[in-house]
Amino acid sequence: MTSPDATHSDAIQTQARLPVLPPHVRVGYAVIGLGELTEEQLYPAFHLSGQSRLCALVTGNREKALEQAELLGLRPQDVYDYDHFEELKDRPDVQAVFIVLPNSLHREYTERAARIGKHVLCEKPLSVSVADAEAMVLACKAAGVLLMTAYRIQYTPHHQAARELIQGGTLGKVKMMAAIDVQTEPNEGQWRLKRDLAGGGSLLDVGLYCLNTARYLSGEEPYEVFAYTHSTPGDERFGEVEESVSFTLRFPSGLISSNFCSYGTSKHRSLRVLGEKGNLLLDPAFDYTSLRLMVDTETEVRETLIRETDQFALELDHFSGCVLSGEAPFTPGEEGVQDQRIMEAIYRSAREGRPVQLERLEGRDLFRGKKPAQIERERA
Ligand code: NAD
Repeated sequence: MTSPDATHSDAIQTQARLPVLPPHVRVGYAVIGLGELTEEQLYPAFHLSGQSRLCALVTGNREKALEQAELLGLRPQDVYDYDHFEELKDRPDVQAVFIVLPNSLHREYTERAARIGKHVLCEKPLSVSVADAEAMVLACKAAGVLLMTAYRIQYTPHHQAARELIQGGTLGKVKMMAAIDVQTEPNEGQWRLKRDLAGGGSLLDVGLYCLNTARYLSGEEPYEVFAYTHSTPGDERFGEVEESVSFTLRFPSGLISSNFCSYGTSKHRSLRVLGEKGNLLLDPAFDYTSLRLMVDTETEVRETLIRETDQFALELDHFSGCVLSGEAPFTPGEEGVQDQRIMEAIYRSAREGRPVQLERLEGRDLFRGKKPAQIERERA
């Protein structure tokens, strides 16, 4: 596709900047659920954040939480048991909670947080059903608090640059997106393999990135889905949830998005976008770090060089900015509800062996709020 005189260049340097506020002005958080994501990603993100600060931990394992609190510079009285969560009501320094629990517990803690007047940043997937996710949105609206689905991809400069290339016309009319998000985890015994805690298998956990990124990059909403699920016969991990899902989404512009997610294949996470005048590749596309964006058009082949900023700090600070300004976040609860609707349609399509129609919605960014402001761009 590339013409013989195409240039090979590093065209853009992109940098995400996090505004820095004095500590007493930053939004205070209680984190609920001190598992792998919290320990390995969120504590460092709070450290890097310029608008957010960690004030309290909510746990089922007090001993472990006290050890973590000490390392984080928190006091023993900043550690709360799940049963005493409501005592956070008396902590004016805690304005928001970050829910990092197994999926089916997201609704309960969102509703409890809303009842005590705390804003809610809730891990993905927002919940395990459309009904639960809608109830979470309603509970936060009724209480006058913000709810954000804790998506990362919408706040990373790599994906933002890809979205600009797609929506700005550099690739011409975009016809096809192909996304893969696969891994060999989780191991037996993990809550992710239990239907009552996870709500589903690889689709809710990693396939959601393929789905959500297609919606984010195009700005459109799919009106039809067609899907297959598969679990290896005899593999005991997949008695309750599916191993793999292949699903196709059709969008009003004619765009087709083809996706595969799995718990049974060695790790790979990529996204290819094909347009009339060029294509782009994100590979890896969904990792926490080291993302790469390659662009191939009629005039040039280039890698877009982007200085990385911690994805979780970007996401966290977007929400803090919204708490401070009162504006709806870019990925509000409604954005998570829409993904849940589409995932339910994907499962239904796989069960019934036929395409499933969704409401046909025209327009861009229909469920999104305030655009992230942190990312600034400059020509190299
Ligand atoms: P994890 O298993 O490492 O941690 C879960 C935490 O919940 C633990 O502290 C555990 O003690 C607690 N918990 C409370 N009740 C529980 C119960 N009944 N069963 C099991 N654990 C219980 O999980 P994780 O990887 O930290 O995932 C937590 C949430 O974060 C999930 O919703 C997941 O989808 C999401 N997540 C998001 C990303 C991302 O990139 N945004 C990455 C990983 C996980």
